[in-house]
Amino acid sequence: MIYQKNRLKVDGFDVALLGQKFKTPIYCYSLDKIKNNILNFKKYFKKINPLICFSVKANSNLKILKEIKKNNLGADVVSIGELMKALKAGIKPQKIVFSGVGKTTKEIEFAVKKNILLINTESKSEILEIEKIARSKKKIVNIGIRLNPNTDAQTLSQISTGKKENKFGVDQKIFLRLVDYLKKSKYLNLNCLSVHIGSQILNIKPYQNMLKSLNNTIKKSNHKFEYIDLGGGMGIDYEHNNTKLDFKKYSKNIEKFLKHNKCKIIFEPGRSIIGNSAILISKIIYIKKGYNKDFVILDAAMNDFMRPALYGANHKILPYKKIKGKKIYNYEFVGPICESTDTFSNIKNFQKLNEKDFIVICDVGAYGTSLASNYNVRPKPMEILIRRNKVQVINKRENLSKLL
Ligand SMILES: *Cc1c(COP(=O)(O)O)cnc(C)c1O
Repeated sequence: MIYQKNRLKVDGFDVALLGQKFKTPIYCYSLDKIKNNILNFKKYFKKINPLICFSVKANSNLKILKEIKKNNLGADVVSIGELMKALKAGIKPQKIVFSGVGKTTKEIEFAVKKNILLINTESKSEILEIEKIARSKKKIVNIGIRLNPNTDAQTLSQISTGKKENKFGVDQKIFLRLVDYLKKSKYLNLNCLSVHIGSQILNIKPYQNMLKSLNNTIKKSNHKFEYIDLGGGMGIDYEHNNTKLDFKKYSKNIEKFLKHNKCKIIFEPGRSIIGNSAILISKIIYIKKGYNKDFVILDAAMNDFMRPALYGANHKILPYKKIKGKKIYNYEFVGPICESTDTFSNIKNFQKLNEKDFIVICDVGAYGTSLASNYNVRPKPMEILIRRNKVQVINKRENLSKLL
């Protein structure tokens, strides 16, 4: 994304022309960005040679999943719907892991039938349920146990998952008991220890603490794990000030870990693959005077893009047309939905904007459309993908009549 002659361009396309042609709000992805992110990820973790399973909940657009598959990634899924979509995208069952705290009987049966690589379990009850299903199908099922390492991910509390008060995984004591139980199981093969401490992690320290905790638990378990699934969570540079996770350091730490623990590493990245690959193009409906600031009322709302409302996440907002002049305007960018949380950002000292102008919300590729809803009976937004010098519609705007 760059300004040319003060007009915002995305992979060579003029943002306003896209907005006029396809109408707003519209998600616009860059295939180049996605490919670069994958290449980058593979490059930094080359020495580890991990199985990279894209976290489908970050973005479950079928066309996007197909592109991800073309780059040889597997999938991390958390529901039967995501599993079906990953399979439909052509991802091989042997590259799919199934995570989540509450898999139903139906979901487990489907996963077992499809012979996916492994089911990551999160409780004794779930293990017993999988065992029951495996026995009835006379199949040996590969499972992992998710450890809750009681590690503070130092991220937004809403997306922190690895502390003892979080619902995810089991603590070390229970973990060790489950390992003992599984040693005697005829139908379950414990071949993985999994962990995922949270999302949008920028600091290396939580990962280092997590690896320490894993080391300790593996030693105590006296079990040979074929896979260690380290989850995802790698943070990206939402602020555009070069704060992102140090992949190089993380890779070095894992290399060290592997010296003591011979196993294959699995990663489940979502955000770091897709997060910065998309913008949300929106048009200003009205600008209204408020107390100490003006409200810029967009045609995009929390139903289109929920992260700010749900997590208090902040995303950069850029004007399509850069204008000279003093940056003295205090704006709150909001959607038209009848909720006070339907707000994207408060920005001080912004350039002047006008009604009908286009703006873009940056870095919406992860947890953008996958979290979109029909709240206020609003159709879900359109998605387009820029592939070299072509624009491809990868999800039509939802038809309002479908909602009536
Ligand atoms: C959400 C999730 C991920 C992906 O997290 P990112 O921060 O998008 O990389 C990976 N694994 C599990 C189990 C998850 O729940």
